[in-house]
This record gives sequence, C-alpha cells and structure tokens, in this order.
Amino acid sequence: MKKDLIVIGAGPAGSSAAFLAARAGLDVLILEKESWPRYKACGGALSAKTVDILSEHDIQIGPELIKNQISEFKFSFPGREEFGLNYKKTPIKLINRKTFDDFLLKKAAAAGAEFIDQMEVLRVKENGNEVLVETLTENYTSQFLVAADGANSRTAKYLNREKKGIIKNKGIAIEAEIEYQNLIDNNFKDQILIDFKHLDNGYGWVFPKKDFLSIGLGILNFEKVDLNKILAEYLRELNIRIKKDDFLVKGHPIPVYSDQTEFKRASNRIFLAGDAAYLADAFIGEGIYYSLVSGFAAAETIVDYLDSNSAEPNYIPAENYEFKLKNNIFTELKEAEKIARLFYNNKKIVQLLLKSRRDLLIIFMDAVQGLKSYSELGNLFNFFKNLFKIKI
Ligand SMILES: Cc1cc2nc3c(=O)[nH]c(=O)nc-3n(C[C@H](O)[C@H](O)[C@H](O)COP(=O)(O)OP(=O)(O)OC[C@H]3O[C@@H](n4cnc5c(N)ncnc54)[C@H](O)[C@@H]3O)c2cc1C
Repeated sequence: MKKDLIVIGAGPAGSSAAFLAARAGLDVLILEKESWPRYKACGGALSAKTVDILSEHDIQIGPELIKNQISEFKFSFPGREEFGLNYKKTPIKLINRKTFDDFLLKKAAAAGAEFIDQMEVLRVKENGNEVLVETLTENYTSQFLVAADGANSRTAKYLNREKKGIIKNKGIAIEAEIEYQNLIDNNFKDQILIDFKHLDNGYGWVFPKKDFLSIGLGILNFEKVDLNKILAEYLRELNIRIKKDDFLVKGHPIPVYSDQTEFKRASNRIFLAGDAAYLADAFIGEGIYYSLVSGFAAAETIVDYLDSNSAEPNYIPAENYEFKLKNNIFTELKEAEKIARLFYNNKKIVQLLLKSRRDLLIIFMDAVQGLKSYSELGNLFNFFKNLFKIKI
C-alpha cells in the first residue's frame, strides 16, 4: 500500500520528521538499517536550544534521559595554556544516544508512525508524483520521502547526482566510550574538558556520563591526521589508565554546513534532513539540534503541502523547505562557519582573549548553548579582530 511518507533512518532527524507528520495524521513508515536500538558514535552533548526545540514540539527531556549535567569546564590551548570556567547558568546536558534516539523514535511510534528495523534502503527513485523505495527484500512507494540517512546518505548522492564531486565532507569525528569500572582511577566525574591543542581545525573532548567517559576528537575543516593515533596520545596525556584495552573507537564524517557549496537539499518529493542535508555546524560540529530543526521543517512542509494542495496550486515544497531552513538555521550556520575560520586560525589570540576576558568566555558558552546567537559572538570576535588587525 502506498504510504503518505517514508522516512529513512531513525536518528533525531528521522524521528522528528516522523513524529510531526504522524501527529498531523499522515500514514508514516520509518525504515532503519540497524537492529534497534543501535549505538551511535556521538558525544551526546545537548545544547539548551536542542532541549528548547523539543519542548516547543511537546517533547520533554526527562531526568531519566540525562546521564549528567555539568557546569565545570576546562579549556586547553597550545603551549600548555589552560583555564577553567564554572558556567552555572545552564549546565550542559549529556545524553546517551542509544536511549535518546530510542526515546524520540517511541514518540514517533506513539504518534502513529510504523517502524521497521534491519531494513536497509538500497535505492530510491522519484517517479512523477511518487517515490519508489527499494530494500533487499521489499519495495515500497510513498507520496513523499524524508531521507534522514545520516552522514553517508545515499539519498543525498541521488539528489545531487548531476553535481558529481560537489559533496565533500570536511569534517570527521571519532569517539571512545570507556566504562568507569575499566578505569584505574577516575578524576573526571564532574568536569568537561575541551582541548584545542591536538588539532588545528577541531577539538578533543572528555564528557563524563553516568557509567562511562565519552572521549573524542572532531575535525571540522580538512586536516590530514591519524585521529586514532592522536586519541591514544590524548588518553596518555590525560593519564587515563585503563584496566582492559577493549573499548571501541568509532566515528564517521561530520557533514559540515558550508555557505560556499551548492547542494540540493530537496526536490518536490524528497527532503534531506539532518546529517544527510549537511547541517552540522562548522564551529563545534553540533548536529543534533540541526537534525531536529530540519526533520520538523521537512515534515511541516509536507503537511502544509497536503493541506494546501487544492487551494494553492503554486506551492512548491522544495522551495518552501529551503525557505524554512533559511529562516531557522542558515544564518546561524553561516556565522558558525565565519567564527570557525576566525577561531581556528587565530587560536593564540583567541586563547588570550578568552582567558583574560571572562565576559567573553561566558558569551562564548552562551553561543554554544544557543542562549546567544553566533552572530552576537561573531560581532564581538570581529571587534577584537579589527582591534588586533587579524586577517582571515
Ligand atoms: C564522534 C561524534 C560525536 C558527536 N557529538 C555530538 C554532540 O555531542 N552533540 C551534537 O549535537 N552532535 C554531535 N555529533 C553530530 C551528531 O551525532 C549528528 O549530527 C546527528 O546524529 C545527526 O542525526 P541524523 O538523524 O541526521 O543522523 P544519524 O543520527 O546518523 O541517524 C541516521 C540513521 O539512518 C540509518 N541509515 C543510514 N543509512 C540507511 C539506509 N540506507 N537505510 C536505512 N537506514 C539507514 C542509520 O543506521 C542511522 O540510524 C557527533 C558526531 C560524531 C561522529
């Protein structure tokens, strides 16, 4: 039977789209290739704006999902420069992606979406007013498709098949989860570490969660390095001694948004959302928030189209979706790209500024949390850029 909407992928982008569409009464099917619930390499840091966007859609992040809330930060810069911050205003919430993604999927299922796991989509094809979705064992058809199939999205390649070579991943991140019981000693329970000295265009992190430490490295703009080797160095430097050396290191590309790239995010039947749509921010690699915003926006576009079909024959879904993304996130993502250039190319000066100007450090954290916009942080950085005559 033909579905109103098929969603590929049950990450935050897929579940948010399925939730909104099912709640509006659409017949929705989610296809997920992994056995569910699945592990996902991720630091699991939720900014305040992520919690807010969920809340705006009546999804509350309860305490059972929060694996720690931290207000103590330590920042490291090249030259053994270190400084701390107690950011009490809004502690960073840490979640575990397996339970968080399952929670969101259950919201979509409760709203009426059907879910099939271990069903990898091999091919999609837009055919007039419908989309054909092919898996190894089944073929499906739907009026619309939201492709939330992550960083290596096949659908993104399909939509951009005429622009070969345009899609270039500039980012990549890896993460290890080390259980406390495997640590010889643990000094990290209540502090987040952010390390800007091991990578030129990215950072390392230590996020202490309830049962394990998430330790990782993320590159946000092309850097030819051996991330596994740097992670081993980072662990040594942090004096993290492990009883059993059997933890997994996993990761994948970070599809960083770039204002410079022409990339098709939608046709009138197919909408890319989340990582598939290249919506991670170029400054810190945040992706969950942008996945949710784009998932909700894709579903809203489809619902609006179906509602207004007869009344507004000129409604063009692809344009409407781009318009929603432009209004809600492109400005911030563009600013993140500018700040990333300024920040990573001038770490010495940035370090001096953040260390000596606590007010600036707090605005930096406010922007990371989404309490202030990247534009505001950008304006301040620009002020100092002009003061120090920095070129970018
Ligand atoms: C190491 C690392 C750390 C990160 N840390 C953070 C962080 O702390 N905070 C933050 O905000 N962001 C972080 N990110 C980014 C964040 O993880 C992503 O932006 C986010 O998961 C994107 O959500 P999504 O729903 O688009 O894709 P995903 O969460 O990747 O979900 C895609 C889903 O699609 C499924 N799928 C893929 N192909 C198919 C197919 N052909 N058929 C069926 N199913 C398919 C996959 O199995 C997967 O379940 C991190 C990324 C990495 C790599």
